[in-house]
Amino acid sequence: MSNLGKITPIRDARSSVGELVSIVIPVYNESANLHALWTRLNPVVSALGRECEVIFIDDGSRDDSLEILRGFAAGDPRVRVVELARNFGQHSALLAGFRNCHGEIVVTLDADLQNPPEEIPKLIAAIEAGNDVVGGWREERQDRAYRRLASRLQNRLTSVIVGVPMHDYGCMLRAYRRHIIETVVECDEKAAFVPALANSFAKRVAEIPVGHAERAGGESKYNLFSLAHLSLNLITGFSMLPMRVLSLTGMGIFLLDAIFAAILLGHRLVYGPQQEGALWTLFAVLFFLVGLVFLALGLIGEYIGRIYIEVRRRPNYIVRAVHGDGAADNGSHPPPR
Ligand code: UDP
Ligand code: MG
Repeated sequence: MSNLGKITPIRDARSSVGELVSIVIPVYNESANLHALWTRLNPVVSALGRECEVIFIDDGSRDDSLEILRGFAAGDPRVRVVELARNFGQHSALLAGFRNCHGEIVVTLDADLQNPPEEIPKLIAAIEAGNDVVGGWREERQDRAYRRLASRLQNRLTSVIVGVPMHDYGCMLRAYRRHIIETVVECDEKAAFVPALANSFAKRVAEIPVGHAERAGGESKYNLFSLAHLSLNLITGFSMLPMRVLSLTGMGIFLLDAIFAAILLGHRLVYGPQQEGALWTLFAVLFFLVGLVFLALGLIGEYIGRIYIEVRRRPNYIVRAVHGDGAADNGSHPPPR
């Protein structure tokens, strides 16, 4: 069945291998890019001069991505393919990849060649220099203007919420130390945003500039709605700040209201009941308060929604099969609960 529940004992016999590097790549309908990706990734992996495994997660692709990936796995013992039962989303796919990898250093990468595989050695070097997490920073992003603007806002917000300032939380070209990956997997969080979650466990975090290209082929899987969805998940997943702000605003408004009521009362006593202006003011205040109540309800709803999703304890992803060398010893079995 599923890979739901407690952490799979990731440290099996293989993890005794020194600095094994795992490269984890989520794939959803990327058949247009996979051959080009592998053509560029393969020499990079070989040139690393160390043991390396490449884990592709097929996130329920409807094109022939899975067949192409299985072809890679059949032809190269370093490649493994985790086949998910349907589309669970990029971050859930990453979690499935993390649970199925063994590397002491874990590198993540997009499949659409927006992240140049040639940058991987730089990330690994930065991890070996003593960092727990190394993020790629797309200084010259090749995306639409609205994406860049949305990203800038999101990076500011994420930096405040997570408490670890970074220029680029959205770049998936990143590297992690094994203990960070294990903690992230152990969280088994629904609607996880991997870079933020990882940073919240890291002691030393670095950011290095990396190249960024336009999507090689196919289309982005994100639209404005799914980006907004991701942002809300991020806010409610990491912080109680919005609720606190609401409570404080509530208190402030209560105080102002009390003063305002006193003024209105004074006005009434001095000028008598014919002052219509006061009535309109009252309406204005009332509307403001109604708006605020709606906002508060929405936000509280967001948190309750999260609790609901957590207590349901549905799996983040379901692994249908693992293809490739060494597939039998991991991932395809449900973990002990
Ligand atoms: N992806 C995935 N599952 C999804 C959506 C995306 O595995 O539901 C993968 C996708 O194949 C790609 C990466 O996540 O490798 C980033 O997706 P995309 O390029 O569409 O995002 P963008 O670069 O536009 O932010
Ligand atoms: Mg992309």
